[in-house]
Amino acid sequence: ASFFWQPIMNLGNIFNNFINNIAYLERIFETMDEPVTVSDKENAKEMPTIRGEVTFDHVAFSYDETKKILKDVSFTVKPGESVALVGPTGAGKSTIVNLISRFYNVDSGRVLIDGQDISEVTIHSLRSQMGIMMQDSFIFSGTIGDNIRYGKLTASEDEIRKASRIVCADDFISRMPEGYDTEVRERGSMLSQGQKQLISFARTLLSDPSILILDEATSSIDVQTEKALQTGLNAMLQGRTSFIIAHRLSTIRGCDRIMYIDDGGIMETGSHEELMAKKGYYYKLYTAQLEEVHKTA
Ligand code: ADP
Repeated sequence: ASFFWQPIMNLGNIFNNFINNIAYLERIFETMDEPVTVSDKENAKEMPTIRGEVTFDHVAFSYDETKKILKDVSFTVKPGESVALVGPTGAGKSTIVNLISRFYNVDSGRVLIDGQDISEVTIHSLRSQMGIMMQDSFIFSGTIGDNIRYGKLTASEDEIRKASRIVCADDFISRMPEGYDTEVRERGSMLSQGQKQLISFARTLLSDPSILILDEATSSIDVQTEKALQTGLNAMLQGRTSFIIAHRLSTIRGCDRIMYIDDGGIMETGSHEELMAKKGYYYKLYTAQLEEVHKTA
């Protein structure tokens, strides 16, 4: 290409990337907003700035008439508290966090945030104050810096670096050929799972959510990044109400509160130490997992 056309072609690239990214974002929101049965009430108001108290008040829920998933769930989480949900597959852990972000409406009872029934506020004003991270970390085509900037489009380079440092992502990014300007492709095949998760941690931290929801967001990690992720995770939890679902119990043992969920109800609740001393469900799960680790080591 000639000297003359180069800038225009670059513009074309930027534009194409932009369009691809929008398409990709829409795909995410499509999956995240699933199902579309939840919509704003006619007179829905804006959710005020969230402090982070989350209450389930006798919540019952089912996806369809055939099976009650949550029967009568009640709890209150204080602003800034970190809560881990553990228990067998199919117990209802994801269902609980899905109700906090209102991907579904409850059948009876109420979900309250700062005392406000969340079915009365607009979905946008609610979710824009939440950081929701699921198993797959989303990577867009563009630079690593851009990928982090999605958390806050107006962020400066300094802010991006600062967020990355806090979640321990700065190290590996700085070692990349072009640092934060390194181009990655959609889905980020050149990055390891752990690196993708660190990038998505930085993005989420930059968005500064009042409530953080991690649904198996730390599950597929390589050993090198595990320590960085744990430190990064702890940093993200600071000062915000968090709900974490993690199969690997070492990830969550530092949480303020652990709730053991089974059969659509809370069977046990307490800190790691309290539940270990109790020698109940959590104790069984934890010791079984320790044995697994020893067997495979
Ligand atoms: P966990 O996160 O503890 O593994 P879930 O909350 O995902 O459990 O699931 C609880 C129950 O709800 C399971 O029996 C599951 O099959 C059912 N379930 C989950 N999602 C749906 C859905 N979209 N439609 C119908 N049933 C569902």
